[in-house]
Amino acid sequence: MEQKASKSELYLKQREEIVKKDRKDYFCVDVPSLTEEEKKADESFLKIKEELLSDGKMPFLDNYYKSFPVISSSKLFKSLHKMPKGAHLHLHMTAASRIDFLMEIAKEDCVYYNESLNLCKVFVENEPEEGYKKCSEIRENWDKEGTFDDFLQDKILLNEEDVSSKHSNTIWSKFQPKFDVTFDLYNYEKFFERILYQVMIDHIEEKCFILEFRHIFGCIFNDKHEVISLEDELALFNRCIEKVKEVEPSFSLKLISCGLKIVGEGHINSQLKSCIEGLKKTKIIAGFDLVCEEEITPPLLTFQNLIRLAQEDEETPVNVYLHAGETSSRFGENVYDAVILGTKRIGHGFAIQNHPHLIEIAKENEICLEVCPLSNLILGYTYDLRWHPARSLMYRGVPLTISADDPGFWKSHGTTLDYCYIALAWELTLKELKQFAINGIKHAALNDTEREKQREKFDEEWTKWIEHLNSQE
Ligand SMILES: [Zn+2]
Repeated sequence: MEQKASKSELYLKQREEIVKKDRKDYFCVDVPSLTEEEKKADESFLKIKEELLSDGKMPFLDNYYKSFPVISSSKLFKSLHKMPKGAHLHLHMTAASRIDFLMEIAKEDCVYYNESLNLCKVFVENEPEEGYKKCSEIRENWDKEGTFDDFLQDKILLNEEDVSSKHSNTIWSKFQPKFDVTFDLYNYEKFFERILYQVMIDHIEEKCFILEFRHIFGCIFNDKHEVISLEDELALFNRCIEKVKEVEPSFSLKLISCGLKIVGEGHINSQLKSCIEGLKKTKIIAGFDLVCEEEITPPLLTFQNLIRLAQEDEETPVNVYLHAGETSSRFGENVYDAVILGTKRIGHGFAIQNHPHLIEIAKENEICLEVCPLSNLILGYTYDLRWHPARSLMYRGVPLTISADDPGFWKSHGTTLDYCYIALAWELTLKELKQFAINGIKHAALNDTEREKQREKFDEEWTKWIEHLNSQE
């Protein structure tokens, strides 16, 4: 009997050691354990999740268009909307608006639509181009099924058919043109300012007080449809930030200026110049990034000279926050270049799962991945969120944050919905949710004092959320 007990003890000891070693790198470095209050709140959070999972249902496994109405109207969504998010570090400005807000903008008198080109345009002082009709007139004379606004909304959003392929490249062929449909709606300066303000307010409402936008300089235009100067563009941002600070003094907005790889070196060079000029004039620029569908556009390697030159600028060295590793191909090597170029964070970066040495470098140098779960699901990089690479990277100790990328094209905004899906698919507890949020603050482009203040604000808000969960039945 005694011998049996000791064999059993030995077994359990061996088991415990293996589990300990296996979990030694788990990413919850700042949240080793939960307080008693948090543990209680975690129990009620689990109950909220289970409401969605009753009778063996797993809505997060359904296709997005089936799961979206269920999850976005759930108690889980309402609860996570109140959860402080830390920061939202990967959001493209021209894909950030709530669709209902953008549709309100499209009702303005200066908005025109060309049905054969499927493009919205704004004409204020300029004569409307041929083929464009005022939306207000189209709306009035609409004789097709449904309303014109429903029709236009469908043209703006990615729909179920657009994303029905299992090949990301086919989905991108539907996705990329969406930026053209809405280009004028976002980039007319008066609209831009309204959208920017509303996006920031929406973030404050979902308890996110740090926002970093990917932004392309030189697109915003005035009443004459002329591109406004960099000074005016920066002034617009600063004006809007001041206005938002009246609502929430702790709110922080930074820009990551972007170049489109597909347009080529000349464009990248001029975007880098604007970035450097902007850095001299304002504190709202965090750095630079290169964007576009990774698998069909030139690799980062092509632009390394340009980037290194900008990084070596004596007066205003440019930090980089590069998109890389948003690919399912084993031949994608951008993650190597992003790391060598000293990227502060990696946009997406999930392909790093295939590069054990880069994982070690990311851990050592605290290079955080901006994980965008729903974007990856919708654009066909993963079909089942349970197997999203980020889930295994959590066990390997890679710093991760959660972002939405282009939520405006799939009827979402902010990061609440992304958190809902991963809370379910990755079976998250408050421990992981808190670490994701803290990582946002740790890896945001802030100075030490700003970071400390944001952490204090987060702790206050987190306590409120825990109290809220504990006040639930
Ligand atoms: Zn992106």
